[in-house]
Amino acid sequence: MNLTIQRGSHQIGGSCIELATDSRRIILDAGLPLVDAAREPFDQRSVRGKSVEELIQEGAVPNVPGLFTNGPKVDAILLSHSHLDHAGLLHLTQSDIPIYASSGTSKMMLAGAVFGRQQELDRNRHREIVSRQPFEVGEFRITPYAVDHSSFGSLAFLIEGAGKRILYSGDLRRHGRKPGMVRDLMADVGNLEIDVLLMEGTHFGGNRSTGKTEYELEEDIVELVKSAPGLVLACFSPIDVDRLVTYYRSAQRTGRTFVADAYAAFVMHLAAGEAAIPKPNRNAGIRVYFNRHFEQRNITSLKDRFEEDRITLEEIVAQPDKHLMVFRPSMRELDFDGVLPRKSRCLYSYWKGYLERADWVELQQHLKAIDGDFIPAHTSGHIYVQDIINFVNAVGPQSVIPIHTFEPEQYKQHFPNVRVLEDGETFDLLK
Ligand SMILES: [Zn+2]
Repeated sequence: MNLTIQRGSHQIGGSCIELATDSRRIILDAGLPLVDAAREPFDQRSVRGKSVEELIQEGAVPNVPGLFTNGPKVDAILLSHSHLDHAGLLHLTQSDIPIYASSGTSKMMLAGAVFGRQQELDRNRHREIVSRQPFEVGEFRITPYAVDHSSFGSLAFLIEGAGKRILYSGDLRRHGRKPGMVRDLMADVGNLEIDVLLMEGTHFGGNRSTGKTEYELEEDIVELVKSAPGLVLACFSPIDVDRLVTYYRSAQRTGRTFVADAYAAFVMHLAAGEAAIPKPNRNAGIRVYFNRHFEQRNITSLKDRFEEDRITLEEIVAQPDKHLMVFRPSMRELDFDGVLPRKSRCLYSYWKGYLERADWVELQQHLKAIDGDFIPAHTSGHIYVQDIINFVNAVGPQSVIPIHTFEPEQYKQHFPNVRVLEDGETFDLLK
């Protein structure tokens, strides 16, 4: 059995891994890069309207015959989760390859397609898989495991074939709302002989080995909402359902109405039943604000669905200190005519690297001008270094292969059996 990291051996994002035997090929993730060759942010919109051949030429798409272009057959794509750096190239893959993914992942991709100008998961190609229910692709036996990450429905994969066992972590963390998910995975695979662990290492190279849990973040946010004199604006990615729950609970605990924008309301509608969150309804303390941005795009069937629970901007602005509102920078111009209510408090729940972007810089300046404030309130979707060490030790693999990291060499400081691959280099497990 051969393992090739087609991309992602030395970068965070753009993940694409191939496992091949003499007769079968499977692909783990097909993601867009987050950075270009110079490690500058990669403009993900730049792929629109270009041919696969052009994109391979430019380096945006790895050259994997049979996956993106004609070539030997690929039997399956296993998708760990909906983030674009794992799923963003799926629509460019050959249309006869089935894609194995959780229902949560297909739902988040649907939300991203309706509201985020992203690609839906092709229904004809989607094979829905369930955590801990093994399935087969030729001689490969694959067991998905639900893991906690900042996209709803994330999976890790155990892949068995040709007498070998590979565990692919996908993206995961141990400090989310459901730490039992990864704990149970560790307990389960700890009893097995794992030949290769493909382990994400987003946090290698950072300066903290551990950090806040999602529960600690909730306590912080509750205090920040309690002390806010006016409207609280919550900026976060709605497909991070853990964070959606954190903000909803914070509103509940401080006696404020949670105002979901159309995107967040749609995610709540899709995730209710699978996550600790109700469908949007006023009896549960949730109202839906239909942002003008989405209204302009005429997403009318959804509008009808949330009609009874809709709230107007006038209602919110009349009692700003009674609301916690999902917010994005474009809403200042489009919905608030450029001026936010005085003393608004904006809570920022994204990676700090985005703060330099013009829209966030302008928002911070505006908040100062209206006597408001802008406060980062975030914790990572990725496993901290100390937790990586514990995870790898519990799994006890023959080899650790770094993936989804800028610092693969740093794994060697912690583990004796690290094999750093280059992109495109093949590792033969049978040797
Ligand atoms: Zn991710």
